Amino acid sequence: MIEQEQGGTRYVQFALFQQFPELVHGSFTRHGGYSVSPHSGLNVSVSNDDSFENVLRNRLLALESLGIETYPCATAWMVHGADVLTLDGDDWDDWRTDWPHRSYMIDDRELLWTTRPRRKADAIITRRRGVALAMSSADCAPLLFYDPTRGVIAIAHAGWRGTARGTSAATINAMREQFGCQPEHIYAGIGPTIGACCYEVTEEVRRLFRGEREFEAMPAGEDYRNLVRDSAVFSVVELAKCSSLRLNLWETNRNQLLLAGLMPEHIEVSGICTSCQKEHFYSYRAENSKTGRFPSILALRREFETQ
Ligand SMILES: [Zn+2]
Repeated sequence: MIEQEQGGTRYVQFALFQQFPELVHGSFTRHGGYSVSPHSGLNVSVSNDDSFENVLRNRLLALESLGIETYPCATAWMVHGADVLTLDGDDWDDWRTDWPHRSYMIDDRELLWTTRPRRKADAIITRRRGVALAMSSADCAPLLFYDPTRGVIAIAHAGWRGTARGTSAATINAMREQFGCQPEHIYAGIGPTIGACCYEVTEEVRRLFRGEREFEAMPAGEDYRNLVRDSAVFSVVELAKCSSLRLNLWETNRNQLLLAGLMPEHIEVSGICTSCQKEHFYSYRAENSKTGRFPSILALRREFETQ
């Protein structure tokens, strides 16, 4: 990934996406934000007890860092599922009601970001230009997608639950069904995520991936059951007193994308472990859940002339 710094914030970008000047994107570190301990930095989540004003300021700062503070910003009420929202022309007015720009102003500037999204999902796809898609995370995998052939972008979020439900593959399927994207044309980036170095899980998690157990709510789609089982990468680390089961979210999501038809050279894995680098990124695990959420943002530029 490529590190960028802008006005005090620091964010990382996929090298793979640099060839597309029509794309704007970044996964943000915690540096440069207004929040104080234990969320110190660029926390964009209102689901913890950080001050609402800090969260709004941080959201605006992130958009400003990318130079897209005038873009409306769409996000979702993340529920660790595999449902995919399509942001398209027809339901635009409905999305608009989620926007706070009429209600929330900071220093006389409009803040265009959904504060309390109503729609529950963990992935959004769109081909609209001039709209920022955003997801926040702290260990879960931020997943960014672009099909330059069809001009479609997508953003998704997958922790172990979303990964076990096939979120990556569900996003690719939605791009295909809604916009006619072909998987071999899609580029994907897997952003800063807790690594297998730090991500201990229970045996029950492995049994869910293997299909030996069912989720109590929102079961994984039958369509993805085999793909989820075949994609899963677990490892066992022998410690002094016990053995520790680890889930590799990087490789598991990468495998899901390959099984969904993406080309290996079209997938970039950040390789950044949020837990190992908790001084730079929020980590739910490494900070015992008392932490913030950093944003990953993706947009197609509003004005861009294609050759
Ligand atoms: Zn680690």
